[in-house]
Amino acid sequence: MSISEHCKTIVLGTGPAGLTAAIYAARGQLAPLVITGHQPGGQLTGTTDIENFPGFPDGIDGTELMDRMRRQAERFGASFFDGSADRLELGTRPFRVHFADRSATCDSLILATGATPKLLGLPGEKELFGRGVSVCATCDGFFYRDKDVVIVGGGDTAMEEAVFLTRFARHVFVVHRRDSLRASPPMQKRALENEKISFEWNSEIAEILTDDAGVAGVRLNDVTDGSKKEIACDGLFIAIGHDPNTGLVDGQIDLDENGFVITRSDCETSIDGVFASGDVQDPIFRQAITAAGSGCRAAMAAERYLENLDE
Ligand code: NDP
Repeated sequence: MSISEHCKTIVLGTGPAGLTAAIYAARGQLAPLVITGHQPGGQLTGTTDIENFPGFPDGIDGTELMDRMRRQAERFGASFFDGSADRLELGTRPFRVHFADRSATCDSLILATGATPKLLGLPGEKELFGRGVSVCATCDGFFYRDKDVVIVGGGDTAMEEAVFLTRFARHVFVVHRRDSLRASPPMQKRALENEKISFEWNSEIAEILTDDAGVAGVRLNDVTDGSKKEIACDGLFIAIGHDPNTGLVDGQIDLDENGFVITRSDCETSIDGVFASGDVQDPIFRQAITAAGSGCRAAMAAERYLENLDE
């Protein structure tokens, strides 16, 4: 596909935020160029069935949902470059995006580069995704009705997800590497007072135990005295934070203390004409539907911005 040297809008990223932004920008006659990134379709392509995206009462495969969104954007005139941007120049106007061996300029830019869940770095961890290991309790908790699960982490996400998991699971073990939680006091209280949750303090997961079905338990290491302990469980939820994918804009736009892009209410960033949507600016909700919603807002805000530029 031929790619224009100058576009009204370039969208970076093709998770639900980027693709929704592409659909809206294309329907708004902005003919966006969409740069897919190294994981086209984003985090959802790494999951199995998505059961909480409205409109799919029987669930939908993550890759299929992303394919459908891409086709929808193409139908309205979005063009796609399958690859990653290497460098952004946001200090000059128009903005310049370098990718592969070329570059393109744009009057507005929508960042939807997502975030990457942090992992423990244990052998087998990634291979067990979908077979007991999960990074999203909201997505996968439902599959653990009356089962025992372990969640690792001591932040707000871990506490929120631990409490959420008690709706399904028989028991939730929270494994935390220290003896106090990072989570905010109200969130701590909810988890500490929940009788279906117990805490394994000063503990790290040393090994994921498996059987033919997938996760069968975890082996814990007590960091204070090196003692070992095993917990039998069917699910291991990892909630130790996310790394926002902001390498391209680091040093160019304002990020918060955890590296997420700071946005104002209309997905505006610290640079006029640069908008951010989805997980790259949302440490809290991180759902496909919230990302899609913010992608829509970013595209509509970009349209308004470009209209004002024309005037
Ligand atoms: P955080 O970075 O706040 O917490 C991560 C937790 O994981 C910490 O307890 C940390 O331990 C632990 N951890 C990190 N790396 C490892 C590792 N390698 N092995 C074991 N444990 C590890 O991330 P969250 O996702 O919880 O929260 C991100 C942001 O979003 C925060 O600002 C939070 O307040 C916010 N948030 C707010 C919510 C709400 O208000 N409803 C809900 C969810 C998130 P340690 O404490 O020792 O560093």
